[in-house]
Amino acid sequence: MTEHTLHIVGGGMAGSEAAWQAANLGIKVVLHEMRPEVETFAHQSGKFGEMVCSNSFRSDDDEQNAVGLLHWEMRAANGLIMATADKHKLPAGGALAVDREAFADHVTAQLEAHPNISVDYGEITELPSEGMWIFATGPLTSPALGEAIAKETGADRLAFFDAIAPIVYAESVNMDVAWLQSRYDKGETEEEQKAYLNCPMTKDQYEAFIDALLAADKTEFHEGETAKYFDGCLPIEVMAERGRETLRHGPMKPIGLTNAHKPEDKAYAVVQLRRDNALGTLYNIVGFQTKMKYGAQTEVFKMIPGLENASFARLGGIHRNTFLNSPTLLDDQMRLKSRPNIRFAGQVTGVEGYVESAAMGLLAGRMAAAELLGRDLPPPPFTTAMGALINHITGGAEAKTFQPMNVNFGLFPPLDGLRGGRKGRKERYKGYTDRAKEDFNQWLEEQS
Ligand SMILES: Cc1cc2nc3c(=O)[nH]c(=O)nc-3n(C[C@H](O)[C@H](O)[C@H](O)COP(=O)(O)OP(=O)(O)OC[C@H]3O[C@@H](n4cnc5c(N)ncnc54)[C@H](O)[C@@H]3O)c2cc1C
Repeated sequence: MTEHTLHIVGGGMAGSEAAWQAANLGIKVVLHEMRPEVETFAHQSGKFGEMVCSNSFRSDDDEQNAVGLLHWEMRAANGLIMATADKHKLPAGGALAVDREAFADHVTAQLEAHPNISVDYGEITELPSEGMWIFATGPLTSPALGEAIAKETGADRLAFFDAIAPIVYAESVNMDVAWLQSRYDKGETEEEQKAYLNCPMTKDQYEAFIDALLAADKTEFHEGETAKYFDGCLPIEVMAERGRETLRHGPMKPIGLTNAHKPEDKAYAVVQLRRDNALGTLYNIVGFQTKMKYGAQTEVFKMIPGLENASFARLGGIHRNTFLNSPTLLDDQMRLKSRPNIRFAGQVTGVEGYVESAAMGLLAGRMAAAELLGRDLPPPPFTTAMGALINHITGGAEAKTFQPMNVNFGLFPPLDGLRGGRKGRKERYKGYTDRAKEDFNQWLEEQS
């Protein structure tokens, strides 16, 4: 092992990109991958960059879409995942879809052929105390390694499944109906006393909502995932199945809340939304983790008074997913604060999706390489898609309720002087993406 060797564990989206980036900066990389020796329930091959489900990298619109912007930034930074996706692209309208076999073959061939990369097949089950390491072991991190990570971080800082409540853009909530108040006005400061957005329901609205929940299309658990994991965190539709009143006595209880618009009206049920980021641009619907299909979710959640025109930064879900409480555990270089020779990257850091995971691999690879070369590499500014994501997972997100996040414009600092709300959206998104491209290019230039 030379002093410039970087070990990367996991040859998925993040590990492959991290290896490519570091190797291109002259670092010797050893890429450790447990497949095909040890399998996961979702992967089908021993190849690098395997897409475990959909074959889409989502929108490729780099002017109006945050994930499209992330594509743009990864292309600008000579990303392997994006270059390979472009090479093996399939017609898919505005989305970037690929031939998954050709994609994984190409990623594998590129990494195997790189003079600075060697591959070591086998499972890593410990966090080594020597050398520099990036762990990019993904949502299906092997159980033995999961145990070793939990031992280091504390079991309460490593989750083995996500239970994601839908997240709404604050600007899309109808504040003529909803109001700000914490239950029983709890809290020392006015900010704490008004920490929640409340959406009231009459009895008829509640009954219609329960009917819709029971009738909605649901996603099944994958083979290898088990519903028993989720007993402490039941999907709302399962709570509704247990009794029509269960939700009214659980996450939708109306007590301790007074409708600021109609103080004399006693709500039959109240849906609460809690702030999800320091900027206050995103709110999650409290206790609304769900296995409803995405189409059904938007229909059902728009029945909630105040959310009739809601835009969703992400919809709810429950999946097998190993991820860290990154806001408390990682520094802004993605290093474990308690063991700085170890970085994490990809979905295990609490981002969600192929593109976001690859982007975090790109950053971790560049950051580790810079450290080995004795250089400083600050994270990209959080006006960029990559910067907004890393800022969210390592600082901006609420640590107590931290759940995996897709890239979205709610993570970006607002732009002064542009109109809020639905009407100004096109201009605003163009403003965000123009600013991001300029700032990302400058961040790249500073490294050359
Ligand atoms: C069932 C399922 C379906 C999904 N569907 C989608 C989808 O449609 N679209 C989407 O964008 N995202 C989807 N995701 C999320 C997806 O997994 C991530 O977006 C992406 O693959 C994460 O990239 P990653 O590099 O962090 O992890 P992965 O791509 O999973 O790579 C992690 C790698 O680490 C290896 N590994 C794990 N433990 C060890 C160990 N101890 N030692 C050595 N190697 C190890 C694994 O074998 C794997 O190759 C899905 C996830 C699951 C579980």
